[in-house]
Amino acid sequence: MFDLTDQVALVTGGAKGIGKGIARVLVNAGATVIIADIDETAGKACAEELGAHYFYLDVSCQASCKQLVSAVVRDFEQLDILCSNTGIFPQCNLASMTEQHWDDMHSINLKGTFFMVQASLEAMRMRGYGRIVLTSSITGPVTGFPGWTHYAASKAGQLGFMRSAALECARDGITINAVMPGNILTEGLQAQGEEYLEQMKAAIPTHTLGTPDDIGHAACFLASKEARYITGQTLIVDGGQVLPESPEA
Ligand code: NAD
Repeated sequence: MFDLTDQVALVTGGAKGIGKGIARVLVNAGATVIIADIDETAGKACAEELGAHYFYLDVSCQASCKQLVSAVVRDFEQLDILCSNTGIFPQCNLASMTEQHWDDMHSINLKGTFFMVQASLEAMRMRGYGRIVLTSSITGPVTGFPGWTHYAASKAGQLGFMRSAALECARDGITINAVMPGNILTEGLQAQGEEYLEQMKAAIPTHTLGTPDDIGHAACFLASKEARYITGQTLIVDGGQVLPESPEA
């Protein structure tokens, strides 16, 4: 277990699913954790359950992201860790996709990443220390999936953003990395339907879906002091789903 005592961590989309798993692992590692989410009811309940704090956030709104970081610095005097995790993934095939579908996806998944990372940098630069962990996906950067062209583009785009941002921040003591979950059992994944879940379980070598805490542990490593020499990198956490099988096996 990595020790995050005296560290202040912000987890976006932290009220449910993977964000909640990340928040739980960071709390257990000793961090002061702020859960930022658009869902106030779930966010407050989650904060109470985990021993964390809840702040409102609409990640698609730049002013909301700036206000959130200002409030965190005002109340906790520092920001050491940002887990930029918020994301949506409704399916829509290419033939029926409208500009609105496309824009809604990118305003949360891609623009939200930019807003949160940019808003956090000043507080991290002032202390010469920061750990930023993005939640990307295997869909887009490594694999494709029918119905997710807009989602795949957003998740691949996050990684391009991350690599250039990592170079811009390298001399400031700030690292930026990404976890790439496979299929993790959350409300968002359940919304894809039972048929999808069964299809995915069959495709994963372990034949099990991942848990939010599986991603939490990977994020905790990248958020630790010990990961200081890792930046601009990705960590796939998918039960081996994207491993190609040898034709001779
Ligand atoms: P989820 O739908 O279960 O939870 C998402 C959380 O984000 C919710 O608490 C929701 O209220 C919050 N949220 C939504 N819109 C918001 C907004 N505008 N501002 C602030 N908060 C907002 O999703 P999840 O499955 O936990 O996924 C979390 C992240 O992991 C996403 O980026 C997703 O793309 C990624 N991911 C998930 C899986 C998976 O299998 N579940 C796989 C790969 C990547």
